[in-house]
Amino acid sequence: MDGPPGNDCCAICHGHFNIACQANCSHWFCGDCIMLVWHHGSVLQPCKCPLCRRQITLLVPGEASLRERNDPNVAEVLGKIERYNHLFGGNTSSLVQPDPHQKATAKTRTEL
Ligand SMILES: [Zn+2]
Ligand SMILES: [Zn+2]
Repeated sequence: MDGPPGNDCCAICHGHFNIACQANCSHWFCGDCIMLVWHHGSVLQPCKCPLCRRQITLLVPGEASLRERNDPNVAEVLGKIERYNHLFGGNTSSLVQPDPHQKATAKTRTEL
């Protein structure tokens, strides 16, 4: 799926998705809404999904969001999301190369 369900709305602002992003728990949020939730708590820790309380370790922008990335506001939010994924994801395709700093990630993977 490349975007949120058409009849759905953001659970944070209860409005239309703006820069829709899908969390690893499969819920969709506006990119800036979920970044606000994250900044509401500690930025050193991943935030929890406001709907299912699962820890969000990956946010995937929908295709429509990526098409709008020449808009500076969209690019800024997408940049924050990329940083979030870098901090807490550790399993995006760009991070597959072996890295000694990834040992912690390997440990959490075996727990899954
Ligand atoms: Zn929203
Ligand atoms: Zn969720």
